[in-house]
Amino acid sequence: MAVRRIRLLGDPILRKRCERVQDPKSAATRLVADDLRDTLRAAKEKYKMGRALAAPQIGAPVRIVFVQIDKQRWTMINPEITDVGPDDFLVWDDCFCFPNLLVRVTRAYQVTLGYTDLKGKQRTLQLQGPMAELLQHEVDHLDGILALDRASGLDPFALRSEWEKLYDRSARHGPPQPREV
Ligand SMILES: [Zn+2]
Repeated sequence: MAVRRIRLLGDPILRKRCERVQDPKSAATRLVADDLRDTLRAAKEKYKMGRALAAPQIGAPVRIVFVQIDKQRWTMINPEITDVGPDDFLVWDDCFCFPNLLVRVTRAYQVTLGYTDLKGKQRTLQLQGPMAELLQHEVDHLDGILALDRASGLDPFALRSEWEKLYDRSARHGPPQPREV
C-alpha cells in the first residue's frame, strides 16, 4: 500500500510514451496497480473529483490505467482504443496533473477499448459518453498526451473556480454530434 505523489504539469515523465507491460501477472504490475488504487483514493478525498489514474501520473512510465467509479474498479493493462463511433462530443475535461484547470476538448462519443486484466485475460469494452471520454483521456496519458494538447474551439481554458461560477456541472458534457471531417 502506497500513496504516491501525483506528477504535475511540467514534469517530463508526463510526456513519455509509456512501455507496454510484458507480464500482466507480475509482482511489478500488481505493485503499480495497487499504488494507482491507493493514490486515486487519496486524491479523490483531497480534490473531491476523479475517476481514474494512469501510471505515468504516479511516475511509472508503463501502460497501466486504474479506474474506479463508485464501487466498480478496473485495472487495465495495455489499454487500446480499437474503434471509434461516428459521433463526437465536447467535454470540459480536467486532470490531477493540473487540478485547478478545465479544458474544453472534443472526444469520440463511443469507443471500443481492448485491454488485459490482472489475470492476463484479454477483454473488450464498448464505452460511451463519460466512460468513453475518460478512457480516451487515460490512454492519451500513456502516449504522453495531455488534455491541454487537445484544447478545442475559442477560449478553451477556464480555472475551475471561474468555470464553477459560470456553468452547472451538467455542462461538463455536450450532446453527441456527427464528427466534423
Ligand atoms: Zn489526466
